[in-house]
Amino acid sequence: MKHNKMGRIIAIANQKGGVGKTTTAINLAASLAALGKRVLLMDLDPQGNATSGMGVDKHHVTQGMYELLLGECTLSDAIQKTAYKHLYILPTTMDLAGAEVELIQQEDREYALRRACEQYQGKPLDYVLIDCPPSLNILTINALSCAHRVMITMQAEFYALEGLSQLVDSIRRVRSHLNPQLLLDGILLTMLDRRNNLTIQVEQEVRQHFKSQVYQQTIPRNIRLSEAPSYGVPALYHNAHAKGTQAYLTLAKEIIQRRNNEERKQA
Ligand code: ATP
Ligand code: MG
Repeated sequence: MKHNKMGRIIAIANQKGGVGKTTTAINLAASLAALGKRVLLMDLDPQGNATSGMGVDKHHVTQGMYELLLGECTLSDAIQKTAYKHLYILPTTMDLAGAEVELIQQEDREYALRRACEQYQGKPLDYVLIDCPPSLNILTINALSCAHRVMITMQAEFYALEGLSQLVDSIRRVRSHLNPQLLLDGILLTMLDRRNNLTIQVEQEVRQHFKSQVYQQTIPRNIRLSEAPSYGVPALYHNAHAKGTQAYLTLAKEIIQRRNNEERKQA
């Protein structure tokens, strides 16, 4: 892939809504940055939850994901610094909802984000996390066509597994038609409540089926994680000691460790 200045690009996806994609994107990005990695968080959801969760006022965004996808600005134009060292954001506005229609009319519509990444001339990054919308629409396809990896977040509940096969199929289709290098980075179980028997059962089932593709680390249900966005800060800078915050920090270490192991094997 030509966009190696971008480091490893991970799309955080699940067409199911409310399964912790954005919470993961924000807190994993903050954790990786706190561990010294240079991280860009991209908001690819017209809802703009990652943008506001990072404290960026959507009304002041003039160059964001929408402009980038339509070729009206470059990635370097659209990237903003955050208050935190090593952590950058590519914000979005509600306009992005319209990009779907406009993209459909473009040739190479699946590659708009990838093209922007390939042209990136800024400082090298270690990780790019893409917060996807709850849909398998052209925006999500853009993320999957550009990414090296997909992370699936899922809630440990009865119906969680049903949507999963549809998502895995889409990933397979993108791999065979649009992006042969795309790999599943892992499945993250979020909002876990270990006092609930069904949760334990679903976790066991998912681990049996997907084996080592499920991250060791899971994310507990934790009120501190849901509070942080209203302050416009990652939980790490709102409540560093909360269980949920610590879980994301441990997940970041697991992800770095896995990558180190892979790269050592390849060397
Ligand atoms: P959407 O599909 O709408 O984009 P999403 O998959 O991005 O949703 P989030 O927005 O991250 O999901 O989470 C959904 C809701 O659950 C939010 O209100 C969030 O604050 C809350 N939440 C996410 N993770 C946790 C957690 N571990 N503990 C408690 N609340 C959580
Ligand atoms: Mg979201």
